[in-house]
Amino acid sequence: IASRLTSSLRSNDTVARLGGDEFVVLLDIGVDEKSASCIADKIIKEIQKPVNLNDTIVSVGASIGISLYPNNGDSSDKLLKSADLAMYSAKNEGRDNYKFYTPQMNIEATARLEKESNIKIAHNNNEFINHYQPIVDGRHKCAVGVELLMRWDSPHGLISPFQFIPIAEEIGLIIQMTEAALVRGLTDLKQWQKTHPDFYLSINISPKHFMQDNLVEFIQSQLSLFDISSDTLRVEVTESMLISDPKKAINIMCELSKTGVKIALDDFGTGFSSLSYLKQLPLDIIKIDRSFVMGINESKADEAIIDATLVLAQSLNMACIAEGIETKEQHDYLIDRGCHLIQGYYYSKPVSAQFILNNEPANVA
Ligand code: C2E
Ligand code: CA
Ligand code: CA
Repeated sequence: IASRLTSSLRSNDTVARLGGDEFVVLLDIGVDEKSASCIADKIIKEIQKPVNLNDTIVSVGASIGISLYPNNGDSSDKLLKSADLAMYSAKNEGRDNYKFYTPQMNIEATARLEKESNIKIAHNNNEFINHYQPIVDGRHKCAVGVELLMRWDSPHGLISPFQFIPIAEEIGLIIQMTEAALVRGLTDLKQWQKTHPDFYLSINISPKHFMQDNLVEFIQSQLSLFDISSDTLRVEVTESMLISDPKKAINIMCELSKTGVKIALDDFGTGFSSLSYLKQLPLDIIKIDRSFVMGINESKADEAIIDATLVLAQSLNMACIAEGIETKEQHDYLIDRGCHLIQGYYYSKPVSAQFILNNEPANVA
């Protein structure tokens, strides 16, 4: 890469490797936006060319951030920092891209840092709490378990997981947050099981957390600490955990499955839904995504996907839970087709642990 970079520049330009996969190019004075763009294009094309590594052809892409002297910084530090922010912005928009630094990037980076730090503080202050959405057996109208859904109980009110889970995943804090949520969840489950011993708890595990070596150990140790039967805990994972290292993910799933914990595939049909993987996974449950449920009575395609998923699950010996049921029509459509495990506002929104206790776990919906 270094020689490709030097060969695409002039002799008085400077090329350096900052470390890892980061290179810096310093172009000689008198470069305007237009010529910088041309050079960035040229570098991207050069780097895109395949590389032969011991007869294996590999290809890489480049993301380039550009800062201009003196507008984007009057020192090497400032210019590098501006170029770095622009590089991240280019990266976010996909491979083989370049971006010029804009002051907006600085504002966004600062806001982002502030968000990260607020999430860390909130975690230390125990501001993340568990809500639970009942999973209902539609035939008998009784709740058989709940899904744990995290909330941020902030001084400004409850904050949705969409506002903090993606950032917590990126900074790795999701692992500690989920461990704490599981401990709270098992504490609540213990209470509920006093009257309903088969009542179960389903917890969402992020791909990053799932790939951690000690996940299965942690779950097992907590189950024995609380003396809770492993088959009353369910773990919800999404297909995206298979992307980085499918073999490892499958191994962890098998290990987890051996402990007796049940595994559910969340948001089925929204990811890459590789059917060849599906048969290799020790899955107990497939969750039919709300985006298909919304199409019941509206879209023949959505109905066909639901019908096919139900047949698929049945032949693979897996149960189905339909998510996001809001109307009686959606409910009855699913019950008619043998999908009797229902989750959605039709029965109940996610509620607090206390609410479940006060209303008797099975009658909560
Ligand atoms: P999810 O796992 O697919 O959870 C289902 C989401 O659908 C929940 O949103 C739930 O409140 C919502 N929902 C359920 N029934 C209905 C319905 O009838 N209508 C509508 N419109 N929505 C319904 P929520 O609680 O906002 O969570 C959003 C996502 O955040 C979750 O999607 C999950 O991916 C993530 N999440 C929440 N808690 C956790 C957690 O503890 N750990 C991890 N890793 N992710 C979590
Ligand atoms: Ca889920
Ligand atoms: Ca889901």
